[in-house]
Amino acid sequence: MIRHWIRYACSLVCAMNLLAPIDAIAQTDEPAAGVGWDLARMRAGNISHLRYELDLSIPATLAQPVTGTNVLRFRLADRTQPLVIDFDTESAAEAVVTANGVGVRTHVVNGHLLIPARLLRRGENTVRIRFRAGDAPLNRSEDLLYTWFVPANARRALPCFDQPDLKGRWTVTLEHPAQWQSVANGAERDRLKTGDRVRVRFQSTQPLPTYVVAFVVGDMQVETAERAGRKMRMFHRENDAARLARNREALFDLHAQSLEALERYTGIAYPFGKFDFVLIPAFQPGAMEHAGNIAYKAETLLLEESATQPERLSRASVIAHETAHMWFGNLVTMRWFDDVWTKEVFANFIADKVIVPQFPEVRHDLQFFLAHYGNAYAVDRSVGTNPIRQPLDNLGDAGSLYGAIVYDKSPVVMRQLEALLGEAAFRDGVRGYLQRHAFGNATWDELIAALAGHTKLDLKQWSRMWVDEPGRPVVRTQMEIVDGRVQRLSLQQHDPQGKNRLWPQQLRVTLGCGPQPRRIVIELTGRETELTHALDGCVPDFVLAGGDGWGYGEFELDARSQAYLLDNLHAIGDPLDRGVAWSALWDTMLAGRMAPSRWYGMAVLNLREEQDPQLVGEWLYDLNVVWWRFLTPERRIEHAPHLEALLRRRLDAATELGLKSTWFAALRNVATTAETVAWLQALWQREAAIPGLPLVETDETALAFALAVRGVAGAQELLDLQQARITNPDRRARFEFVRGAAAPEAAMRERWFEALADPANRRREVWVLDGLRLLNHPLRAQSSAPWVPKALDMLLEVHRTGALFFDAAWVDETLGGYSSPQVAAMVEHFVDRLPPDYPPRLRAKVLQSADLLMRAARVTDR
Ligand SMILES: [Zn+2]
Repeated sequence: MIRHWIRYACSLVCAMNLLAPIDAIAQTDEPAAGVGWDLARMRAGNISHLRYELDLSIPATLAQPVTGTNVLRFRLADRTQPLVIDFDTESAAEAVVTANGVGVRTHVVNGHLLIPARLLRRGENTVRIRFRAGDAPLNRSEDLLYTWFVPANARRALPCFDQPDLKGRWTVTLEHPAQWQSVANGAERDRLKTGDRVRVRFQSTQPLPTYVVAFVVGDMQVETAERAGRKMRMFHRENDAARLARNREALFDLHAQSLEALERYTGIAYPFGKFDFVLIPAFQPGAMEHAGNIAYKAETLLLEESATQPERLSRASVIAHETAHMWFGNLVTMRWFDDVWTKEVFANFIADKVIVPQFPEVRHDLQFFLAHYGNAYAVDRSVGTNPIRQPLDNLGDAGSLYGAIVYDKSPVVMRQLEALLGEAAFRDGVRGYLQRHAFGNATWDELIAALAGHTKLDLKQWSRMWVDEPGRPVVRTQMEIVDGRVQRLSLQQHDPQGKNRLWPQQLRVTLGCGPQPRRIVIELTGRETELTHALDGCVPDFVLAGGDGWGYGEFELDARSQAYLLDNLHAIGDPLDRGVAWSALWDTMLAGRMAPSRWYGMAVLNLREEQDPQLVGEWLYDLNVVWWRFLTPERRIEHAPHLEALLRRRLDAATELGLKSTWFAALRNVATTAETVAWLQALWQREAAIPGLPLVETDETALAFALAVRGVAGAQELLDLQQARITNPDRRARFEFVRGAAAPEAAMRERWFEALADPANRRREVWVLDGLRLLNHPLRAQSSAPWVPKALDMLLEVHRTGALFFDAAWVDETLGGYSSPQVAAMVEHFVDRLPPDYPPRLRAKVLQSADLLMRAARVTDR
């Protein structure tokens, strides 16, 4: 896409006669929109010793623009070409530019400022740009501004070289209302107060890629603490003192533990000097690894007293993940975003190691299985799946690379790689790679080269299958029993796409032979592997090819194993193998080889018994999906009294607060009987209580929405009352926005949805997603389905205007409540009629999001 050239006939700037004329620049040399691969390569080869001096003035009101100056200092190896600076804002043409002291007529092409070659020098150069900042990546609200520049959005706010392999040292000055706080990547150097304004200067940073440059300014409080001689600060906006007090020490501790573990693992001291973190309400991602000032979604870190074990684990995990990025991503950065997964895989993989000593009571191999496999399989079983590494021509499209394959399949693959090399050799290879590329950039191939010195295996070939190919193998168990004896037991590998691909991997097959299942380790390299010899006369009750949560694939059960597991899964002693068996049955149901009602019977049977809190949390999530999307309304009416009684019983019997909260949330989510809905209403009205589980504001908000969606009488007043109950201004504003999507009247909900056509109403992305989830709740499917095509039509614009992850989440929340053939047909119709120039990865996201819908719509035997 080439944006139209705009020549400004006369801004103030043109009147100044010291301006140099624009050099003739051939149209063919114009840089394309975004940041193209060719431009990035050319600049990376030419520019070095990059420093920025950014000076921004942040006004007290939203109506005023953020303005400032950015001084870019750098060395050029060659000065024959015009210099291309990225600056993609509406007001870019009004920027005032001087190059090496000479005024330059502002020349904007496709979101870039062009500096004539004639004004450049070989060696040291200075370009000074006075500008008005673009608002989108600044996330401004009345009393808060926070930047989120990943993957290449710094250029939408300020002029810079927005590519990961041009690292610069940033010296930032922020001028803002004196009553506000501010934090940037560098430590605060000094501050000067003048009237009601303050000018804060920050120390120069280490070389940073633009995507981790960040600052936050606004009405915040600051908590400080010291751990192991390191001072840390936490910036936040929480006004609930108890909530803050409950979490404060844990947050500092978790960061300190993560830092210590990372320093030990990498052998490299924390590289970025000071250490702060910022809690941002309704922050779009879970967190972002800004160097020296990590940003988090406040809701993920400030837990309730009744937080579940999965919530505590996920909080520790996100902190370890972001901390790991200080080394993996920030210290050593991918050269280009096609390798973005390398920083994400290390962050997740190392985070999994870091949290082990923090939760001694948890089975971490089970945690690894539950945290990654379900998410990765959900994408890899869809027709829209993608490989871990994807080619990328332009950083403007980098946002569409992210997803469960990058975050969840790649740790599974990395664990295999570690097993192939051995833990110590793997760690040594990683250390060497970090040392060699510190404060620089590296590719995946350079990491493989660093690791190849530690093994005789052909890592390139291995990497090609697991990293560059999409999908997963089907591994089918074949067991032939004649006269009560196993004649033959084998595993057969198939390529579901019929391309004859083979995925080499180690499996730890579990054989249900007696009370202590037997484990055999095999290398699955060919099409078929025979296991008969390993049986030793045993006729196994079941065979789990993915045993021990180790292998990756669709593990097709043989008939005997399937029949046994449906009735006896709970009898397996090892919780990890119970999780693996459950996952295999889930795949069986989704593949259409088992009726959802049969799966449901198995699930209820096991949820009656299961004591492992990790499995309970995961299984209740799957149960909720099947309940709403794979069972018919008639089946739900038939099963509801029994299911609700079971969940209520387990809620009452649970002694641990987090488990109680898990069972209660499950009951609230599936509740349909008049009796249970009335009880939920009494709880919300504070006329009833759950012994041992105090309900707090966030519980009451969730209850209010659950009741509204169930169409209880007086829902509008109920929502009014709930809004009045919320005392935190950020949470109240969010509720006020979202409630329209849960309104009792369809016309009101339609107005809420229609308003999203205006990009201004989509700016609070987390709020929009909350609303879409309520709007498209299965109980509202009838009235909301007609809006699905419009939401799909809006996707391209949402993709263009929204931040990272928003497009995928938009389509997830749009389709997440449906299961009917009619809505499936709407999606098919949409996909079939996409124009050839529709972004292919966006199309793939639709297919990924629609996978459960398509499977549910195909089910004839429920
Ligand atoms: Zn990350």
